[in-house]
Order: sequence, then structure tokens, then C-alpha cells
Amino acid sequence: MIQDLFKKIVSHSKKYGFIFQSSEIYDGLSAVYDYGPYGVELKNNIKEYWFKSMVRMHGNIVGIDSAIFMHPKTWKASGHVDAFNDPLIDNKDSKKRYRADVLVEDYIAKIEAKINKEVTKAKKRFGEDFDEIHFRATNQRVLNNIKKIEDINTKMSNALNTGKLENLKLLIEELGIADPVSGSKNWTDVRQFNLMFNTQLGNISGEEGKLYLRPETAQGIFVNFLNVQKTTRQKIPFGIAQIGKAFRNEIVARQFIFRMREFEQMEMQYFVRPGEEMKWYDYWKTQRMKWHKSLGTDDSKLRYHDHDNLAHYANAAVDIEFEFPFGFKELEGIHSRTDFDLKSHSELSGKKLQYFDPEINENYIPYVVETSIGVDRMFLAVMTNAYTEEIVPDASGNESERVVLKIPAALAPIKATVLPLVKNKEELTDKAKEVFNKLKPFVNTQYDEKDAIGRRYRRQDAIGTPYCITVDFDTLENDTVTVRERDSLKQDRMHIDELVPYIQKHTDLSSLLSKLTD
Ligand code: ATP
Repeated sequence: MIQDLFKKIVSHSKKYGFIFQSSEIYDGLSAVYDYGPYGVELKNNIKEYWFKSMVRMHGNIVGIDSAIFMHPKTWKASGHVDAFNDPLIDNKDSKKRYRADVLVEDYIAKIEAKINKEVTKAKKRFGEDFDEIHFRATNQRVLNNIKKIEDINTKMSNALNTGKLENLKLLIEELGIADPVSGSKNWTDVRQFNLMFNTQLGNISGEEGKLYLRPETAQGIFVNFLNVQKTTRQKIPFGIAQIGKAFRNEIVARQFIFRMREFEQMEMQYFVRPGEEMKWYDYWKTQRMKWHKSLGTDDSKLRYHDHDNLAHYANAAVDIEFEFPFGFKELEGIHSRTDFDLKSHSELSGKKLQYFDPEINENYIPYVVETSIGVDRMFLAVMTNAYTEEIVPDASGNESERVVLKIPAALAPIKATVLPLVKNKEELTDKAKEVFNKLKPFVNTQYDEKDAIGRRYRRQDAIGTPYCITVDFDTLENDTVTVRERDSLKQDRMHIDELVPYIQKHTDLSSLLSKLTD
């Protein structure tokens, strides 16, 4: 059922021009996707909302756009050359490659499914009196399974944290995990695999000319710390925000745009006084959750997940997880990165990446709190929230099924579509085009005259257009039109001159931004 929703989102995204497989005519390139005409509009709106909520809504956050290629030493300093690895394992029979930790996580997910099944069964049995919290805390079978999960997690963390990958293989064998494709248990040893793509500069051979495609945008911010601080004369605390492409050679590339090899990130690095990082970490944790909720996402679909295994640079880390159709997964990460990055860049470059704090009369390397979210994962979250199948009355009052994307109006790809009631009446189409021309400089508007009006409405529902403006014979008499609202299907009649302010009021990003003020 839930997998069903995922399949529907994938096929809807293709059918209505949101997302296409990259190089599809050559059978596609795995885990790489292209955004179509409506996809690019939605994606741009997500990015604009994020950027404005960071830069415009905070007097002390500025933006940059740094290059994808960076000096190779950057990745040495950041730790990516030595530590940006995933543990991989091959199956000797099927020749398929897997992430060893993901095989174990999938095994855990099966135990979780067993627990949930137990709960559902009990719910049915006890009916209204069922107390789920009590049941989970006392049922022996549930408790046994929870214990099993904890044991597995401990063993996996130990193996990963100590780098003893042979113990991860032992765990896979002990759990009897088989290749999901072939059923074979004939595994190779677990090895580390670096996720960075590399390429070579044309004029320098060997290691010196080895370039990496950046695996995160953050390093472009760190190396520009002094440039930005000096040119904008920012005082600590201040932030630098950036949106840009990142590349990771993911071993397990699946789940559509959730895990891609080329993707986009929206990252903000907040530079703070050492010792104050936990205060700002808590601040950004709250702020980012507020941002997600400003989009109308149900509370039950968002949760925090504290990291047990901290990355080499962090002293605290939390994910904001969203309930995707395949379960709760990381949508955004908030990390307290200490002074790790600025310190290592200072050491390797010989340039002092420091700040003189006039309030305490001291020089120091600032600490950093980072918020990092994938544009594509956010896109998938918006689509997951928006995709709705429902029964509604059609133009003649009969019940009919529609698929509608209930995208927050401020993010919707197209804000309004102008439709002449019928297409074979020139007075109507001329008038409708006149309305369209009036609107288009102000709001993203379409004109559509093909097919019966009911079908045109459905088409606009399917791409999430908040307003359909119908030009009919009364329009010719008195310059009024009907405005149909996507979700309520309410139709209002208004004068053509009222359209621009009305649609702007309901679809402008300011309606979302104003929810973010403290
Ligand atoms: P995961 O554990 O899912 O691999 P991560 O912890 O490695 O993610 P970060 O390095 O914290 O991810 O990156 C920040 C954000 O970038 C993530 O929260 C996610 O939204 C996005 N992101 C990371 N990897 C990918 C990817 N391969 N495809 C799409 N988005 C990604």
C-alpha cells in the first residue's frame, strides 16, 4: 500500500513533467535524474524559499555561490580523502555490490515490521481499549525484538567506530543475511569505498592535478570564511548560506531522488564563539523544524533523530527525519562541527582563519553549527505530502476521482491558469489571452484551451496549480471571471482587475516567510 504510493509518485512525476530519468533514451543513468518543466519550477521555488528564509530573514546571514571544483588540498583538510567512505560488500555469486551497513539496517527494518505487525494485531483484538504505549512496553515478543535490534545496533556501531570491518562481516553472517536478489550468502570481506568522484586537470599530471567533484557544498563556505567576513564586515555570530550541486558515488543508489549520485544541497554554516555552539545548535534545531512546519507538514510526519555515531568533525548531530513513503528517513542534518574545518584549513594552507572578537578582545577560530538539507529530498517530501487521490463532484455534479497535488501555493510550479470556457469562440479565446497577458508579468501563469473544461481542470490539479481562472460569456459583458481554488474547489467571481493582487496575496513566498519570524 505504502510502496504503492511511492510508485504512484514516481510515475506521476514522469507523466506530468516533473522528473525524468537522466539519459532515458540510452536506458538511463542510474541514480541520476533530470527535472522537467514543472519540476524545475517547483525546485526553484523550494530553493528560493530556503535562501530567503536564511538570508533575507536574518540580518547576519549572507549568501555565496562557490565553484564545484576546489583545490585538491581542500578534501585532504576536510577529511574526505581519508574518511569519506562507506563499507561495501560484494556477493560472490550474484556479483552485486551492497553497503554492508545498509544490509544490516534492512534486516533491522524487517524486525521493526514484525513489531508493528504485532501491534496492529493487538489493536484489532483489543479495539477501543488498546493502549499502544503500554503494549509496546510490556509485550514479551515486542520486548525481545527491541532487544534484538539494540544488540545488532551496538555490534554495528562498534564495528564502524573501531574500523574493524571484519566484525561487520561476522555480524552479516551471524544474522544469516542473504543477497536480496539471489538469496546467496557467499560474501566477500567488507571494504571501505571512497564516495568522491575524481577527475584530472588537463595541464597537470599525477596526484597534483587530481580534482574531486565536491561531495558537499560546505567546504566552499569554509575556504571563503575570511573573504566573506572581511568584505561584509560581519560580527560573530554570523552565517554563510549556499545552494549548489554535490556529487557522491553512492553504492546503493535507489529510492528515486532520495539517494542520487548528483544532487543539490542547501547548506548554511553559522560561525559562533567557542563554547556557545550548543546554544546555537539548539536554536537552529528549532528554527529548521519551524521551517518544515511552515509548509503545513503534519507534525506526525516529522521527527528528530539524534546521531549515535558522530562524524569525525562533529560534537553533536541531529537529523530531521520525514516520513517518506518508504518510512522515516533523513531529510536534513544539523551538525555542531566544532572548529574542525577552519582549523584544518588553517593548518594545511598556512593562512590564519581566525576572528578577532572585539567584545572579549580575543582572537579565536570560530566554532560552526551547520544546517544541511538536500533539495531533491525536500522535493520528494513536498511531492509525498502533496500527492492526493480523492473523489470530488465534477462539472455536472457527478462523483469523479481526481489526482491533485496539494503543494503549498507559494511553492506551486504554476500559480494560475487562464481557461476560455470553450475554445471555438474567438471572442472568448481573445479575452482569455488578454487576461493571460495581464497576469503573466506578475504571477507564473499558463493559458490552456485544449479539451473540455473539466479535463483542463484535472490537468491543472495534477500539476498542483492553485487557481484556475475561467473566462466565460459573462466576462465579455462585465469583465468578471470565475476563480476556482484547487483544494476546496470553491469558485469565486471577481473582476479582472482584482486578479493580480488576489493571486499574489495567496501564492507569494511572503505568506510562508512571515510564519518564520521569532
Ligand atoms: P545519508 O545518511 O542518507 O547518506 P548523509 O548523512 O550522508 O545522508 P549529509 O552528508 O548530512 O547526508 O548531507 C546533508 C543532506 O544532503 C542530507 O540530509 C540529504 O538531504 C542530502 N543528501 C545527502 N546525500 C544525498 C544523496 N546521495 N542524494 C540526495 N540527497 C542527499
